[in-house]
Amino acid sequence: MITLHDLQFIPFIPEKRITKAIDVLSDQLNKDMADKKPLFIGVLNGAFMFVSEVLKRFNHECEVSFVKLASYEGVNTSSRVRELIGLQEDISNRSVVILEDIIDTGITITELERTLSSRGCKEVKVATLFFKPEACIKEITIDYIGIEIPNRFIVGYGLDYNGLGRNLNEVYQLKEKNMTNLVLFGPPGAGKGTQAEVLKQKYDLVHISTGDVFRYNIKNATELGTLAKSYIDKGQLVPDEVTINMLSAEVDKTPEANGFIFDGFPRTEAQADALSELLSSKGVEVSAMIALEVDDEVLVQRLLERGETSGRADDADEAIIRNRIKVYYDETAILKNYYQKEDKYFGVDGVGAIDEITTRLSAVIDNL
Ligand code: 5GP
Repeated sequence: MITLHDLQFIPFIPEKRITKAIDVLSDQLNKDMADKKPLFIGVLNGAFMFVSEVLKRFNHECEVSFVKLASYEGVNTSSRVRELIGLQEDISNRSVVILEDIIDTGITITELERTLSSRGCKEVKVATLFFKPEACIKEITIDYIGIEIPNRFIVGYGLDYNGLGRNLNEVYQLKEKNMTNLVLFGPPGAGKGTQAEVLKQKYDLVHISTGDVFRYNIKNATELGTLAKSYIDKGQLVPDEVTINMLSAEVDKTPEANGFIFDGFPRTEAQADALSELLSSKGVEVSAMIALEVDDEVLVQRLLERGETSGRADDADEAIIRNRIKVYYDETAILKNYYQKEDKYFGVDGVGAIDEITTRLSAVIDNL
């Protein structure tokens, strides 16, 4: 997360994805504009980075110029469009390609296209790095679109918030609200279920246990549940997409929640990416991965004792218990690494009385 002036922004579109979109868009421009000696017109200030990336990829004769026609102040677009400044070239009979950083309401681009067309150019094409279809109120034809995005305020890659953020090489979106979204981990027998219950009450969070979500959807034969069952019945793994759609539906059930405890998900890096994308589409992010740490021997003893009273077959056999613990560490290692890279991993000592462990967990959460 980053702070610009008074607002917080969270990662939204990674550089790799932006670069890829510019590659595709530029390939198309190379094909369409090969013999036209186009004049690229970059719209300042936001488009400078996009213009430079496109120009680096354009392999034919061309010229470049910049204009200013800003309509934006703060985070809300205003309908006031300022005058076009900076265009010195004679553009009559030329093929012009406008390079915009972002098209939001479409007011700026409509104005710009009209002004340029009135100066007698042969054709005016529009290329934009980002486009917000939901925000657009003008009937416009955009010839080249890099990435379509939902109606969110973004910064980075040339785009600013009151002057700041243009130099970021990936795109961030405005953080919608302060949510505490925890990914809770713990080996079998670490007391994860107990602590999830306590934290849920204490912080007024919604506990999303992937196992429960699966069972609920399958039992109620929801569309996703039926789909998941069709894989399970064939002995196949349920694809991540189905699981993430179920979790998304679960998250949507309580949009006013203070946050969520994700339990049993993610299990792979791809799932962690999917979770981050899901939360990001709602303007929030994973706050922390918290793993309860308990020594293997303590776990084995706890589970064997539990097995004596619960009658759970998988708690009675020491070899099975040790294997479950090993599977846990194999899976967790990848995710620990994943969240450590984002400075979001927290290991918490899981040995002691229930309230002692809660106190340790709370110390982490209160500090997020
Ligand atoms: P439009 O006239 O299409 O509503 O707005 C176009 C201009 O508004 C863009 O060139 C850009 O300067 C600004 N703008 C629109 N959406 C955003 C956004 O999400 N972030 C930033 N930083 N600027 C935006």
